[in-house]
Amino acid sequence: MNSIDGFLPILEETKKIVITTHPNPDADALGSSLGLYLFLIQRGHEVHVISPTEYPDFLQWMPGNEKVIVMSESTCDEVRSKMMDSDVIFCLDFSMLNRLKEMEEMIRSSNAVKVIIDHHRDPEDFADYQLWDTNAAATGELLFDFILLLNGRDEITPDIANCIYAGIMTDTGSFRHPSTTAKVHRIVAELIDLGADIDLVNREIYDTNSINRLRFIGFALSQRLYIREDQQIAYFVISAEDFERFGLKTGDTEGLVNYALSIKGIVMATIIIEKEDEVRLSFRSIGDYAVNLFANQHFEGGGHKNASGGVSNMSLNETVEKFESLIPHFKTKYLKVQV
Ligand code: 5GP
Ligand code: MN
Repeated sequence: MNSIDGFLPILEETKKIVITTHPNPDADALGSSLGLYLFLIQRGHEVHVISPTEYPDFLQWMPGNEKVIVMSESTCDEVRSKMMDSDVIFCLDFSMLNRLKEMEEMIRSSNAVKVIIDHHRDPEDFADYQLWDTNAAATGELLFDFILLLNGRDEITPDIANCIYAGIMTDTGSFRHPSTTAKVHRIVAELIDLGADIDLVNREIYDTNSINRLRFIGFALSQRLYIREDQQIAYFVISAEDFERFGLKTGDTEGLVNYALSIKGIVMATIIIEKEDEVRLSFRSIGDYAVNLFANQHFEGGGHKNASGGVSNMSLNETVEKFESLIPHFKTKYLKVQV
């Protein structure tokens, strides 16, 4: 894989470009995809954004949202032909193709130049070029760097600034995580200079709850939160029935795991959610407890040291049993592992 510098000249001519990201895109995944999309169409490229799955309502305000193609049975042929027909495929905010299910093969077999812009650990070696830095707080931060490499600072419109800001703001936990460097604040200062509307982005993302979601959070906190004080671990277990009972939608469980991590003394928090065809797990930790390694070793997943996710193909009950059996070993096995 080559560094991004060699890629820059390729964009000097008009190209057919596909931008894609990880399943269940979050604000960084979608914000960096749409920020790049808006930037590249201004430069005259033909660009399509493809999301592997649906994403929550609180991201649908993003400029360019109406242009996103969501992969599904009905769009599968269109997605395939866009992939095959493209000169360049950008993979944003992820770097393991096996996360993309049906789209994995399309990307592998496309002759397009493949570019990764990402901040997750252990990238798979499938791309031709990469802008990859695990110290970056968000893919949005790397996208900002990428635009500067293309001498595009003055082409960052307020819409693009909002998209990039949304990713940086959410991936840093509203500028609270250790990834929040001075550089992050400098970039955000520049984004504000360029017209980012901080108030709007924060309201769209955090203050658009449905009453169902709020009631669900209350229910989950009182009925579905388990604490292992001796091991400093707290976890939620949410069944498909709970989901249905509160009429929840994609994204309604987003952020819930952070309540478990906010309990005094807790060093690792998990949410286990029963989905239609699998059980999804999200892990959060503080300090040197490496949940990405835990996710990778036990739940076919990965991510960052303090925020990772994984999957289980067992039933909800079996998954919970497996997780609970791992609890006593977590603190000794996953502390200060250099990953
Ligand atoms: P979340 O818990 O918010 O879904 O994900 C937290 C972090 O872990 C994100 O950076 C996400 O990209 C990563 N992540 C979530 N699920 C998976 C997975 O199944 N595989 C890998 N490699 N990373 C994941
Ligand atoms: Mn990210």
